[in-house]
Amino acid sequence: MQYIREVGHSSFLIDEKNLIDAGDVLGTLGEKSIALETVWITHSHLDHIVDLAFIVDEYFDKRSKTLKIMAHKETIEALKAHVFNNVIWPDFSTIPLSNGEMALSYEVLDIEKTYPLESGKEIKAFICDHTVASVGYIVSQEDKAILISSDTYSLEAVVGCIEENSNIHTLIVECSFPVRMDALAKVSKHLTPDLLFGGITSLESRGLKLYINHIKRSYETEIIKEIRVRKGQWNVHILEEGETIDL
Ligand SMILES: [Zn+2]
Ligand SMILES: [Zn+2]
Repeated sequence: MQYIREVGHSSFLIDEKNLIDAGDVLGTLGEKSIALETVWITHSHLDHIVDLAFIVDEYFDKRSKTLKIMAHKETIEALKAHVFNNVIWPDFSTIPLSNGEMALSYEVLDIEKTYPLESGKEIKAFICDHTVASVGYIVSQEDKAILISSDTYSLEAVVGCIEENSNIHTLIVECSFPVRMDALAKVSKHLTPDLLFGGITSLESRGLKLYINHIKRSYETEIIKEIRVRKGQWNVHILEEGETIDL
């Protein structure tokens, strides 16, 4: 799995056909994006969906498979109403590729379901706590699993998933704002280092790897300094563009 962060927008390439979120991925993936078949969206905010528009458009004549968007029902409704609405961008779910398949399709995520992928990995969603409907994902293979949180304010769901699933060895969580901006974090339902470490205290002794992403660029130095001060026993790593995350 490769972490992609071109201009501050996070996405995760699970395998050549499956991507979690689509915020600025084309610069990194280029023609490799032609192989993408499913994008597992966490939520409808622009930094997580912006390149959906361009994945289907950029290499349209080279695509032979429908690009399927898997997402929460509300996310799909938002994409249909506000993005692929023939005003902001064409409704690619009605535009056929050269082989007659539609360029885009939607499928509502079943939160209870574990979806097997052709690569042997599996993916399952869980509900996060954000200003819009939002899901995180657990990606697993055999007895190993990684949890990827969506943008979130509360970490209760993340803690619950980890308590239920001892295969999770790595936790990827956002940390958008510095501590001094906790009021904005609260209204926009994001995390600061205080909220992050406060929310996962009960997991501290488990020896999990903690990867942090979604740090707002302009506060990066300040946030990383705050993380270092607060990390306690946590094995913390700040994700960088292009990094591979081992399952
Ligand atoms: Zn968001
Ligand atoms: Zn975001």
